[in-house]
Amino acid sequence: MSAVHEPPRGPVSVSVVVPVFNEEEALPVLAGRLRPVLDRGGEPYEVLAVDDGSTDRTPRVLEELRRAWPQLRVVTLRRNSGHQAALTAGLHRSLGSYVISMDADLQDPPELVPQMLALARADGLDVVYGIRKDRSADTGFKRRTAAAYYWLMRRLAGSHVPAQAGDFRLLSRPVVETLKTLPEQQRIYRLLIPWLGFPEGRITYQRGERAAGATKYPLHKMVLLALDSITSFSAVPLRLATAIGASSLVVCLAFLVWALVAHARGSTLPGWTSLIITVLFFGAVQLFCVGMLGEYVARIYTAVQGRPTYHVARDTEDERR
Ligand code: UDP
Ligand code: MG
Repeated sequence: MSAVHEPPRGPVSVSVVVPVFNEEEALPVLAGRLRPVLDRGGEPYEVLAVDDGSTDRTPRVLEELRRAWPQLRVVTLRRNSGHQAALTAGLHRSLGSYVISMDADLQDPPELVPQMLALARADGLDVVYGIRKDRSADTGFKRRTAAAYYWLMRRLAGSHVPAQAGDFRLLSRPVVETLKTLPEQQRIYRLLIPWLGFPEGRITYQRGERAAGATKYPLHKMVLLALDSITSFSAVPLRLATAIGASSLVVCLAFLVWALVAHARGSTLPGWTSLIITVLFFGAVQLFCVGMLGEYVARIYTAVQGRPTYHVARDTEDERR
């Protein structure tokens, strides 16, 4: 194998982590834009592409790119484990003093990498967020759901969570090492990192259009991300169940008085409509509350099982050593 003859990597000052899931079309475009930026930077770097169980030609495309680009490192996961899990694998294995994560589809402009590094170094920052100031390239649906997501998260997790900061960000080595020590399984980095409280800076950018291919975030993955985000940072939904229960009790008591009065007056026969509405309403409320409880129980279950969130099949860096 040719990889055996590659020299071991020296110290790396910048790692760029890119989770990749079925991005055969976007990858060559990404390489074409990212590589010149990093080469021009003139410092030792690695680009860590985490192949999140792609089923298209992604592995072959990565292999081809690697042949001409020694700084490209490929970590292959055994199966699709999700964007945040792929990000975790990349952060865990990264070597750089600064680690920048970005999407493979070029919605995050690679040209901003030097700016992020310069800001972190000049102001001694540990975190630099890429803030999407303009999402006009996204669909109306994506814009609205994203706005609702950040609105809710800032209310539930705290207003220190920057709005419109996705997973395009720079982290210093101390932040990455701190993240590694956290035992959490379902990591939502855009909430977890602000929570750590390291000195942070922000740069704003215009979110570009996807370079090629289709989104890898269908609606069910977006819903899952939102549920994971809520349950990993807030117990408010559980308390909501208590609040709904308490207010229903008050309503029930009022109905009780009304029913007794009606009974005493002997006018109790009509009332099918109110009865069926009440039964259906409280049935729905109860199921909703049980479901909310279930969301937390499911996550406790996953945490107790303690299974790793990803399995690495291959890391091209291991072949150098
Ligand atoms: N991605 C991943 N695993 C998944 C889904 C997505 O690694 O299960 C990667 C994907 O290849 C891309 C990034 O996560 O680099 C963001 O996905 P995408 O651009 O499709 O999301 P969107 O921008 O539409 O929210
Ligand atoms: Mg995208």
